[in-house]
Amino acid sequence: MSYALKVARAHKGKVCIICKTSLDEANTSFAQGGVASVTNLKVDNFEKHIEDTMIAGDQISDPAAVEQVVRMAPDQINEMVHWGVNFDRQSNGEFDLHREGGHSEFRILHHADDTGAEIQRGMMEALRSHPNIEIKEHHFAVEIITQHHLGVEVTRRTPDIECFGAYVLNPDTQKVDTYLSKVTVMCTGGVGAVYQTTSNPVIATGDGIAMVYRAKGTVADMEFVQFHPTVLHHAGETHPAFLITEAMRGYGGILRLPNGKSFMEKYDERLSLAPRDIVARAIDKEMKKHGLDHVCLDVTHKDPAETKRHFPNIYHKCLMIGIDITKEYIPVRPAAHYMCGGIKVDLNGCSSIKRLYALGECSCTGLHGGNRLASNSLIEAIVYAETAARHSLEHVDEYTYNTRIPKWNDEGTLTNEEHVLITQSVKEVGEIMSNYVGIVRSDLRLKRAWDRLDLLYEETEALFKRVKASKDICELRNMINVGYLITRWAIERKECRGLHYTTDYPLHAYDKSNRSE
Ligand SMILES: Cc1cc2nc3c(=O)[nH]c(=O)nc-3n(C[C@H](O)[C@H](O)[C@H](O)COP(=O)(O)OP(=O)(O)OC[C@H]3O[C@@H](n4cnc5c(N)ncnc54)[C@H](O)[C@@H]3O)c2cc1C
Repeated sequence: MSYALKVARAHKGKVCIICKTSLDEANTSFAQGGVASVTNLKVDNFEKHIEDTMIAGDQISDPAAVEQVVRMAPDQINEMVHWGVNFDRQSNGEFDLHREGGHSEFRILHHADDTGAEIQRGMMEALRSHPNIEIKEHHFAVEIITQHHLGVEVTRRTPDIECFGAYVLNPDTQKVDTYLSKVTVMCTGGVGAVYQTTSNPVIATGDGIAMVYRAKGTVADMEFVQFHPTVLHHAGETHPAFLITEAMRGYGGILRLPNGKSFMEKYDERLSLAPRDIVARAIDKEMKKHGLDHVCLDVTHKDPAETKRHFPNIYHKCLMIGIDITKEYIPVRPAAHYMCGGIKVDLNGCSSIKRLYALGECSCTGLHGGNRLASNSLIEAIVYAETAARHSLEHVDEYTYNTRIPKWNDEGTLTNEEHVLITQSVKEVGEIMSNYVGIVRSDLRLKRAWDRLDLLYEETEALFKRVKASKDICELRNMINVGYLITRWAIERKECRGLHYTTDYPLHAYDKSNRSE
């Protein structure tokens, strides 16, 4: 959205936004915490934000990407404000700043606890009133178009793969239309929906990453999936699952097994207040050991009035499903939350495919390295929207529309009459990924995932060739692709690093090099 606003004002042509559901059904709408940026120079500075980001990323973030995001952040905040996004302010007019885990200073701009929804609102209003921007909601991008569609053999070694636009499913005709463009931007968000439980909405099926990978573009860092330790375990609410904020553990919440036994003392002296990754791993281990589908968070020992006052949303949400959290445990489990990797891009957001940019969660800028620092993702998206906008405006006049692109060929395909073939496979992908490629991995689990995904891949590709393109089958293909990429990258990383934790290689590569010295 920010890229569209930035390029549209240059009046170099029209921008068309393709969105597979409604614009507001996006990870952005769900962001709670806020946006990280150094704005209070009395106590904070860029170096501190850079250092915090590098530490969170387990020292494998790309320093150039980190510098760029941190230093450009304040100007981008100003631009968001200019577009009409409101951030909370103190009575003196200065931003009201929060501090989150991993940040050494108060630097999180926020709008109450629904910052993402406010950003989404402000940007949508600006977009919808812009004469140069056309928005196509409920249109599904199926594939990007490259010279492959002109009959040229394209492999991962082909040097000059070029993107000429995208094939897009039209909801009214159920036909796939050809959209030609001079410049294409992939900004399809996260991948949480490839897991059984996620804080992401259903749209997060990793479509852009899968499309670019199929087009032989470069992806990176796919093993680094961030899990939130506690979402509400409630049947039927898995995409998105309701987030139980970490503040609840800060308030004194204790993690317990359903039989009441606490377990964090086995894992970390900070108990339930240990960092996110440690808590997520501990819960995962206990669930696997005892064959449970959840553990519990207990605040029954706290003053009921206080609990209701501090956590009104959680209190009401739980009450709606029959749980009074002042008297009963909250059933919780970890859930897929954020993808640090994705389509590899340079400092201008350029992917390995010419004329194709990638922005936001589907991209891998190198900022996050092995793990994302809280509230660094929204700011990354908007900073890279700025550099990509500048770069594409500089180059757009060099490109022409490639009018030789053939129409989508669906000759001989049938309407899929057996929807169960898709829904069952979607379920299987979730089970495979959650059980074998989740928070704790091992060679054996990863191999099992690989074999199962391979079978699903073969079946689904065969089905895709037989039936007309639909949103459901395209999403399934993409989820299998993304599952494969996470698994493959996890197999290749033979160490514990950042978010990637494997029982077969417990040492950090850094520890190993230290030991051999
Ligand atoms: C519960 C939650 C809390 C979070 N809190 C924070 C926070 O406090 N601070 C922070 O910085 N980050 C936070 N994040 C992460 C952050 O919200 C996301 O990383 C960011 O919003 C991603 O933005 P995006 O534009 O890349 O993707 P999205 O906002 O998800 O947008 C992707 C868009 O692409 C469309 N799309 C996808 N596939 C297709 C297709 N095939 N065809 C057409 N359209 C398609 C979707 O419909 C959607 O509109 C949080 C995330 C969650 C889930």
